[in-house]
Amino acid sequence: MRAPVIAVDGTAGSGKSSVCRGVASARGLRYLDTGAMYRAVTWAVLEANADPHDADAVAAIADKVVLISGTDPAAPTIHVGDVDVTTAVRGDAVTAAVSAVSAVPAVRARLVAVQREVVDAARADAFGVVVEGRDITTVVLPDADLKLFVTADPAVRAARRAAQDAEREGEHPDVAVTEAQLRARDAKDSSRDMSPLAQAADAAVVDTSHVTLDESIAQVIALVDALAEPS
Ligand code: C5P
Repeated sequence: MRAPVIAVDGTAGSGKSSVCRGVASARGLRYLDTGAMYRAVTWAVLEANADPHDADAVAAIADKVVLISGTDPAAPTIHVGDVDVTTAVRGDAVTAAVSAVSAVPAVRARLVAVQREVVDAARADAFGVVVEGRDITTVVLPDADLKLFVTADPAVRAARRAAQDAEREGEHPDVAVTEAQLRARDAKDSSRDMSPLAQAADAAVVDTSHVTLDESIAQVIALVDALAEPS
């Protein structure tokens, strides 16, 4: 078959980025992290000292911002203009504001168009691509060759996220607080009017709660490889 397009949605902190990157690396596919794009717009909003809840101000910034997504799964990057914000977009301020920014319809319209361009470019170069986010299976790429919904128990997600923070920043956040933040972000992302996070009826569920990352990657690789088998 032609190079596959794999659409992946899921809850915050479910491990979907790690699974997607592992699968893309193993099968020579490009990787597009759409969450990083919403985070980059949020970074630009905060840089401009604009209010993330001011939809008009956010839309005006989103309209001008130039985003460049690096799609190598081994080292994905995101630039705003010529500023590399790959690390900055993971900060707490961006994480706290991103759900408000991503709920603005003009932001979504702009980013969905860019996301489809990246997929078309990957296809034109005969690369397959793994695209992850919250509305990829439902809105951005409903005709993808494979659709996945990645999730895990909130307590497991919080414990993993807290361990990552401790490793990266030497911080030891309260796991209960981390779990409350993840649940709050999922609730906001699932309840917005435009393109809420939802599980597509035809998406395969990948629950990472009680398996290793390698096992989740292997589960998805088996689904990807099955696409190439004659039916
Ligand atoms: O995947 P990640 O946690 O980095 O996504 C950050 C935020 O970006 C999400 O909480 C959500 O508000 C927004 N997002 C979105 N649609 C996508 C990807 C991410 O609304 N396709």
